[in-house]
Amino acid sequence: MSKQFRVKYGVNQVGLQLKMRKVKAIISNIYYDHGKYCILTSALDGIHGIDSYHYHGYALDFRTYHLTGKQKISIYKKSKYELSKVSAFYDVVLCRNCLHVEFDIDRSKKFSQLNKVR
Ligand SMILES: [Zn+2]
Repeated sequence: MSKQFRVKYGVNQVGLQLKMRKVKAIISNIYYDHGKYCILTSALDGIHGIDSYHYHGYALDFRTYHLTGKQKISIYKKSKYELSKVSAFYDVVLCRNCLHVEFDIDRSKKFSQLNKVR
């Protein structure tokens, strides 16, 4: 993990899925390339939507308030691009207060079932 990676106090990563571990390294490097610290602000902790992947260890939030508008957009685009090279099932969302990254395990399962039928 990059030296520029930090975890906010109180973030619970117990139960974080393997698919999300590499996300931390990838996102952290992208922040680093922008000359910014990457701070993980939520994993399995916090309050999210009722069906949120956070509760299942398939979502992470990264701080964005120390970024300029341009940096936010640039980091968002680069994150989408880099993660798409790893798997088609990662989703990146630029929220009002964070960069949310999730692995869409439901879509991933549906996809592998479709392939089995064929
Ligand atoms: Zn989130």
